[in-house]
Amino acid sequence: MDLQGSGHRPNGFNKQLSLAHAIISNPLLFAGVAGLFGLLVGSFLNVVIHRLPIMLEREWKRAAWQMLWGSEPAAAQREPYNLMVPRSACPACNAPITAVQNVPILSWLFLKGACAACGARIPARYPLVEAATGLLTAAVAWRFGVSLECVGALLLTWSLLALAVIQRGLDRNPRDLMRRECNRGEAMASLRAPNRAK
Ligand SMILES: [Zn+2]
Repeated sequence: MDLQGSGHRPNGFNKQLSLAHAIISNPLLFAGVAGLFGLLVGSFLNVVIHRLPIMLEREWKRAAWQMLWGSEPAAAQREPYNLMVPRSACPACNAPITAVQNVPILSWLFLKGACAACGARIPARYPLVEAATGLLTAAVAWRFGVSLECVGALLLTWSLLALAVIQRGLDRNPRDLMRRECNRGEAMASLRAPNRAK
């Protein structure tokens, strides 16, 4: 397609350039493309929301372990666990999640909210986070247009969204978990230093 209407047929590079120009110069198109990109970011935010609290907990445990026993924790606690490693898997049956099963929103709908391997329920939070990230990204792109402010606003929006969902999860269970760990830590500390004056 010749977007510039000049009559000549653009080669591949010119085509890409014309497409980029069309996206940049049309706010609606820019917001739409940003929204689609936002869906992918939402998929990544789901990983952040699930793993960040676990990563922090592992770090606290490791620090506590080193403080109390002066040694490294058990091997299971030392296996690499970050936003990239290990690969995404079903928490119930550990079946790896394939690329086809990782398409934002659509995969969840297609799988009817259940793991393809074991049928365990996949919380609606996953497609909701993806949809919210897509919509908010489109809104920010629409509001700021192609600008540095847009990049800043998007980074802030994504961070706040992830933190809000993590916080919501913390309200439900890991606060109890944290309390339990604190109690255990105190008990271990008293075993370790029974004669330390209070
Ligand atoms: Zn499963």
